[in-house]
Amino acid sequence: MLLAERVRMQAELEGRPVNVLWLTSGLGCDGDSVAMTAATNPSLEDLLRGCFPGVPPVIVYNPLLAYESGADFMRAFFDAAAGRLDPFILVLEGSVPNEQISGEGDWATLGADAAGDPISTCTWIDRLAPRAAAVLALGSCAAYGGIPAMRGNPTGAMGLRDYLGPSWVSALGLPIVNLPGCPVQPDNITETLLVLALHLAGSGPAIDLDEQGRPRWLFGRTVQEGCARAGFAEQGEFARTPADDRGCLVKLGCKGPVAKCNVPIRGWIGGVGGCPNVGGICIGCTMPGFPDKFMPFMAPSRLGLLVAASSQLTYGPVLRRLRRRVIRRRFDREPEWRRPASRLDTGYDPRW
Ligand code: SF4
Ligand code: SF4
Repeated sequence: MLLAERVRMQAELEGRPVNVLWLTSGLGCDGDSVAMTAATNPSLEDLLRGCFPGVPPVIVYNPLLAYESGADFMRAFFDAAAGRLDPFILVLEGSVPNEQISGEGDWATLGADAAGDPISTCTWIDRLAPRAAAVLALGSCAAYGGIPAMRGNPTGAMGLRDYLGPSWVSALGLPIVNLPGCPVQPDNITETLLVLALHLAGSGPAIDLDEQGRPRWLFGRTVQEGCARAGFAEQGEFARTPADDRGCLVKLGCKGPVAKCNVPIRGWIGGVGGCPNVGGICIGCTMPGFPDKFMPFMAPSRLGLLVAASSQLTYGPVLRRLRRRVIRRRFDREPEWRRPASRLDTGYDPRW
């Protein structure tokens, strides 16, 4: 799309409410919709009420959250497919099944046509994606195929980028936004919707994505780089059981050193929680190839064991001992002039 055409389109969108058409009818569990209800920063309520300066009101059409049902609920989807609802962000939750191998039935459907026949999720994607201002693949299932796409599955499940093609761009020239996680961290969902709405309103830049289509600012670090237990690894301290409140979890199978995810920094709800922070090993749920590539979850990788052994048997204990000694002798005590003595002497020396 030409730059001038994009600018014209964006100008048309300014000031209008942004509709979010949310297909939960991919192959998935609705876990991401449920997760989003726990968002606090920003919260879903704030997003819907249009509380943020420069952000248009957001209207979410999600079957899990909707009051309407049946034809009343489906109206927005038919309107969008016919070009009567604009602009909109298309969200897919769950993976895309391969309907070419589904025989006489369908793997996944939403609503029905005039004849009463179910409409497949793939048909909805075909109808809505070309008209969408932005497309969000929500959850590891929609982004990469996830659990339904495990080796040996009968549905031929795949991620949205596999279905639409790696070079696909939306009507506004945006590539598919992949927001992985199983489920996605709640604030990551609302924040990404906020960034997309800001861009559609002409108040924010285009979303910055990495080579896997993930928001770069959310997935730029590994779990270990933000983990509250990472300091233990450096000192050669490793947990032996999940109940140990000290020690890095890599020997229990944690995939934190190789998984990109901000959950240990952001927490889960209201900044609290976050898998390794609360004793749960990271199973790499945000990564392409999850879960096959990271199974068995509880088995430590050879590289993890090697790194653990190298810090445990070499510099780790030395570092730990030195640190404890320096802390005890120098930092964990009051300075000389504040220790109890017969006379209070702060060393204050007036120059006049
Ligand atoms: Fe459910 Fe996880 Fe798939 Fe989301 S990514 S639909 S939480 S299985
Ligand atoms: Fe998934 Fe690991 Fe992030 Fe937890 S820390 S959400 S298991 S990638």
